[in-house]
Amino acid sequence: MPASPTPIITAYYDAGTPLGEWQEALANLKDYARQPIRLVPAEDKEAVGAGVLLAWKPPLDLIARLVNLRGVMSLGQGVDHILSQQDFPSHLRLIRLVDPYMAAAMTEWVLLAVLKWHRDDGAYMAAASRQVWLRLPPKMATTTTIAVMGVGAIGGHVAEALAGLGFRVLGWSRSPKHLPTITCTTGEVGFQHCLNEADCLVSLLPLTPATKHIFNQSAFSRMKPGAYFINGGRGDSVDEAALLAAIDGGHLAGACLDVFATEPLPKQHPFWRNDKITIWPHVSAQTNPITAAAQVWAGIIAIARGEAADHEVDIGRGY
Ligand code: NDP
Repeated sequence: MPASPTPIITAYYDAGTPLGEWQEALANLKDYARQPIRLVPAEDKEAVGAGVLLAWKPPLDLIARLVNLRGVMSLGQGVDHILSQQDFPSHLRLIRLVDPYMAAAMTEWVLLAVLKWHRDDGAYMAAASRQVWLRLPPKMATTTTIAVMGVGAIGGHVAEALAGLGFRVLGWSRSPKHLPTITCTTGEVGFQHCLNEADCLVSLLPLTPATKHIFNQSAFSRMKPGAYFINGGRGDSVDEAALLAAIDGGHLAGACLDVFATEPLPKQHPFWRNDKITIWPHVSAQTNPITAAAQVWAGIIAIARGEAADHEVDIGRGY
C-alpha cells in the first residue's frame, strides 16, 4: 500500500469561525486524501513551523512571528484585512478567495437593496404600519441608472444581474472592461460620469490606498440630487461624516450599508439613529467553508509547493 501523503501544516487564524468548521470542510473534499492539510491554531507552538497561514484579520504581529511562512491564504475576497494592517513582507505570497457563491450572495443583497429603494419599500411599509393606503407614481427600471463601482469578480456579476432586470447599468473599473449589457468606464472621467449619471450608486470596490475615502464630500456633491448610495465593498472607501452630511442635508435620498470604517458599528455611531440609512452587519457575502473549501485547499497547496495559483494578489496594487 502506498504511504499516505504528509499533511501540510497550516497555521489558522479567524476569531469568527472555529477551526473545526474549515478542517471538516477540507476533509470532505473529493481530492483531500491526495493531499491532506492539518490546520493548527496560529497561537500554538506547532504553528511556528507552518509554511502557510490561512487567515481572516490576523493580529499585527502574527505574520512576523510565523518565521517559516511562504505565504498567506486569505479567508476573504478582500485582502485589506491583511495588507492595511502591516507592511506585508515582500518575500511572502498572498492568495485571495474568489468564490462564485459569494458573488451570488452579494448579488442577492444588492438586488434586495436596489429593489427596496426603487420600489419605495420604506414609504409603503411606513404607510402600511399606519393603515394608510399610499400610492406613489410608478417607476421604471429602464429609465433608472445604476452605477456599479468595481466590476470585478463580484461587481461584474452584480452589474449583469441589474441589467437583467432592465436597469441602465454603468460599470467602473481600473482597467477597461467589455461586458455586453453594461456601459463600462475607467479613470477619473469614468468616475465623474458615474457620479453624475447614477440614480443609485453601488460600491463593490476593494479597499486600497487609491480607494480610501474615494466617496467623500466632493464625490457626494457631484451625485444627482435624490440619488441613493449602496456599499457592499469596504467601509473605509467612504468618508462617513460626508455621507451623513449629504443625507442629512437632503442631497442624497439615503444609503444601504453593509460595511463600515469600524466594525461592529459602535453603539454611539450616528448611522444607527438615521432612518434614511439601512444598516447590515457585514453579512452581504459571507465566507462559506462549504463552498470555499476547494479553493482554500488548492491555494494552501500552491503556496506550500511553490506552484502557480489562481487569484494571486498583486501586493503593489493592493487587491
Ligand atoms: P476584484 O478584485 O475581482 O474586483 C475589484 C474591482 O474593483 C475590479 O473591477 C477593479 O478594477 C476595481 N478597482 C479596484 N481599484 C480600483 C481603482 N482604484 N479604480 C477603479 N476601479 C478599481 O474584487 P471582488 O469583486 O472579488 O471583491 C471586491 C470587494 O468586495 C472586496 O475587495 C471586498 O472589499 C468586498 N467584499 C465584501 C464582502 C461583504 O460581505 N461585504 C464580501 C466579499 C467581498 P480592475 O477590474 O480593472 O482590476
